[in-house]
Amino acid sequence: MRFADVIARKRDGQALTRPEIDLFVRGVVDGSVPDYQAAALLMAIVLKGMNGEETAALTEAMVASGDRLDLSAIPGPKVGKHSTGGVGDKVSIIVVPVVAACGVAVPKMSGRSLGHTGGTVDKLESIPGFRVDASIAEFNGLMRDVGAAIVGQSPTLAPADKKIYALRDVTATVESIPLISASIMSKKLAEGSTALVLDVKCGDGAFMKTEQDARVLAQSLVEIGARAGLRTEALITRMDAPIGRAVGNAVEIVECIEVLKGGGSADLVELTMIVATRMLMMSGRYDAGAAGRAVRRAIDSGEALAKLRAIIERQGGDAAVVDDYQRLPGAAHQTVVAAARSGYVLRLGAELVGRAALALGAGRARAGEQIDHGAGVLIAAPVGHKVTAGDPVLHLLSNTASSFDAARAFAERAITIGDTAPPARPILIDICTN
Ligand code: URA
Repeated sequence: MRFADVIARKRDGQALTRPEIDLFVRGVVDGSVPDYQAAALLMAIVLKGMNGEETAALTEAMVASGDRLDLSAIPGPKVGKHSTGGVGDKVSIIVVPVVAACGVAVPKMSGRSLGHTGGTVDKLESIPGFRVDASIAEFNGLMRDVGAAIVGQSPTLAPADKKIYALRDVTATVESIPLISASIMSKKLAEGSTALVLDVKCGDGAFMKTEQDARVLAQSLVEIGARAGLRTEALITRMDAPIGRAVGNAVEIVECIEVLKGGGSADLVELTMIVATRMLMMSGRYDAGAAGRAVRRAIDSGEALAKLRAIIERQGGDAAVVDDYQRLPGAAHQTVVAAARSGYVLRLGAELVGRAALALGAGRARAGEQIDHGAGVLIAAPVGHKVTAGDPVLHLLSNTASSFDAARAFAERAITIGDTAPPARPILIDICTN
């Protein structure tokens, strides 16, 4: 089979066969398909698409490129969770201990911050000593001992995704539903869970800006799960404004701990409750009513907080941060972005708040850059709040005072204040199941 013929077939809008897709994935990993041919095929896929069968075959070939975790020695259901990424999205750090405290194990491999979106792994690394680079054997040990682990993406799981993503990133071929779906699901299928809950973000701060695109991605993800025999559910949730009141790293850890202590802002608590409840239902052990009650009980009893402590300790971190936030990295400088007029906060654009956090040092523009774990944005007046001109809307935190000008420019553009209160909108838009 000549690889140029495979490219030509996709260029002409034909469906690729499983052997052709296997050839592509194997060739990218072992170097027998050069980057220029791989990039040509990726662009043809962006332009001509892939049907469900091709997307599933691509996903399976990517899973087969590396290890697949075997968690069968850990008794009971294991439910995975993944978010397509957003601003202030700290939900994993809350739901993993909550669900584990309810007796359902959670294997969680997470990503790093990139561009205006945050990364769970970076947030956790703001806890002194917290290690996210567990080997497969260590990961299994964490799952066995604690019933949960939150680590970085293992390089031995779906290694083809890493290579293909790196090529997509520099060839304008990221924006493709089949490629995004295969990338996400290859990593999740390799993670060894028995069921999966996906949080597909939709809106200004998300990868998918429109509800229509979010629905297509959600359907594609659950279809791959169904074809692979993995019980999968995709929640479509709103990502127009940052989630909760903190955007950054250490500041988000504080917010997670507050939710586990029974506090937290209404939107964050609502989303956390929904995701944790659906994860328990997907385990097959709980119906909707029992799942909701179990989540509430795990928080009210302090068991979920105790589970977070255990995760931090077992992953080498300083668990005393749970009682003493001063042990987390802070910011030497602060400034306020005030309301320019009186009225109601109508909009806090998630992408622009994310860009402000990035400018402050809380994120990275390019993979591999260092971040400032103490930097971030605190939201004093969320959407719907009534403000008087001069009231603080956002607090900007950084260890580099010279970053404030650029951050303020993004932050000011993020805020819209109007005369009447905006309608309250539920965070959950829909649920897609397979
Ligand atoms: N997230 C992923 O893991 N892969 C993509 O292609 C896009 C978002």
